[in-house]
Amino acid sequence: MTSEEALERAAAAGIHRLRVPTPFAVGRVNCYLIEDDPLTLVDTGPNSGKALDELQQQLAGFGHSIDDLELIILTHQHVDHVGLAEIIVEHSGAEVAAIDVAVERLANFSEDADLDDEFAAELMLRNGIDANVVGALRSVSRSFRGWGSKARVTRPLRDGEPLELRDHRFEVQHRPGHSPSDTVFWDADSKILLAADHLIKHISSNPLVSRPLDGSSERTQALVAYLESMARTRELPAEIVLPGHGDPITDHVALIDDRFAKHERRKQKILELIRERPRTGHEIAQALWGDIAVTQAFLTLSEVIGHVDLLVNDGSVRELADGEAVRFEAVDG
Ligand SMILES: [Zn+2]
Repeated sequence: MTSEEALERAAAAGIHRLRVPTPFAVGRVNCYLIEDDPLTLVDTGPNSGKALDELQQQLAGFGHSIDDLELIILTHQHVDHVGLAEIIVEHSGAEVAAIDVAVERLANFSEDADLDDEFAAELMLRNGIDANVVGALRSVSRSFRGWGSKARVTRPLRDGEPLELRDHRFEVQHRPGHSPSDTVFWDADSKILLAADHLIKHISSNPLVSRPLDGSSERTQALVAYLESMARTRELPAEIVLPGHGDPITDHVALIDDRFAKHERRKQKILELIRERPRTGHEIAQALWGDIAVTQAFLTLSEVIGHVDLLVNDGSVRELADGEAVRFEAVDG
C-alpha cells in the first residue's frame, strides 16, 4: 500500500490528514479531521496566524470551518500539536479531550514551560554542557514559548478506555516515551492507529528527557518507557498508522523492529565509548555527533541519557559523581 492509498483508505473511513505549518525543523505537523458526530480535530498545530489560516483553508476544502469543530483531541503536550487549541475553542466552543495525566500540564502551560526550562538547564549542567551553551539554549527555548498556549481539557481520557464518536470507536492507549503524555488512538474496525509522534516514518521520535507530569523531581527513563511503548504498539494488528509528521506507515512492525535494532546498536556504541574512559553525557554526545551536540545539546543529550539508562539498568555502566558533572564508567572494565 502506497502512502496515497493509505491516505485514501483513511479518508474513506472519514479520517483526513491536514498539514499545518510550524516554525520548527520538523516541518509541517499532521492534524486529522474526523468527519463524524461530533466533528473532530486531532491536534491543532502551533499557535500562529499562519497555522490558523492554513488550518482554516484546509478545513474549508472539506466544507467545514473552525467554528464547526465540536471536539479537539490532543495527542501529547508538545506545542506544535496543541498551540491553537485555546483559539479554536474560542471560535467553536469545542470540547477538548486528552489523556488524564496531561490535564494539569496542558492547563498550566507557561508555568510548566518555565519549570521545564529549569529542569533542562540543570540536567545539561549536570551532564557536562557548558554554562554559556545552557544559557543560550534557554533563550532559544523561551523564544519558542509563543508557539504554544494553555489548553483546558473538558474530557479527560483514561488509558485503555474507549473514546466513542457516532461512527468511530477509538481505544485510548497511553504510550509515554517521546513525551510523557503521548497517547495513541486505535480504531479496531478500520485497523487505523492515530499515533501522533509516537511513531514517525522518516525520523526516529526522540525520547526527550522530560520533567515528570506529576511534578515529582525524579526524572523518568524516557527511552526505557519508549521501548516498552513501542513493544505494545507492535502487537496491534494495525494496517495504517497515521503519524504526527510525514507519511502514513503501512508496515509498523518492520519499522519498530528497525528502531529496536538502531537503539541496540547505539547502546553498544555508547558502551564502547564509556569503556575507553569515563565520560560525561555531553562528551559522549560530542564523540557521536560532533558540533551537532552543541547546537542540539538537549536533543543529543536526551538520546545519550536514554541509552545510558539502559546500560545502567543492565549493570554494565554506573554513575561516577566527581565534582560538578556526572561521568559514566564501565563496570568491570
Ligand atoms: Zn512531539
